[in-house]
Amino acid sequence: MADAALDALYQEVILDHNRRPRNFHAIEGATCTAEGKNPNCGDQLTVWLLLEGDKVADISFQGVGCAISKASASLMTQAVKGKTRAEVSELFEKVRRVLTGEETAPAKLKELGQLRALSGVSKFPMRVKCASLAWHAMKSAMDGAA
Ligand code: ZN
Repeated sequence: MADAALDALYQEVILDHNRRPRNFHAIEGATCTAEGKNPNCGDQLTVWLLLEGDKVADISFQGVGCAISKASASLMTQAVKGKTRAEVSELFEKVRRVLTGEETAPAKLKELGQLRALSGVSKFPMRVKCASLAWHAMKSAMDGAA
């Protein structure tokens, strides 16, 4: 697929998740929760995690912010649900490297599936913070639940 077509596709993923964010609610009886703020853009969100043993049984978020921050949070909850802590840590690191532009190898990007839609932000330093906000909140919630 041509680059322009791919860009359009990813744009569509971002817009769709912004319009209809997945797992957009609080979790009653959550194991842990954390807030994330990005004052530069006005993004603000809360992440809820329900851990069962070593596994993320459920994850959700709520908040306000730009399309990138919301779409990233929505994609994050989908990607993390059902994974073990170790798998989540691995994914977190992979996404971090892609968002910051440290990882650009097409094969590595492909592994990320839908999350690849976020890779475009690496060219825009201001947007990197928007896209990584939910991921950092999720990580600190999980680390806090140790
Ligand atoms: Zn933002």
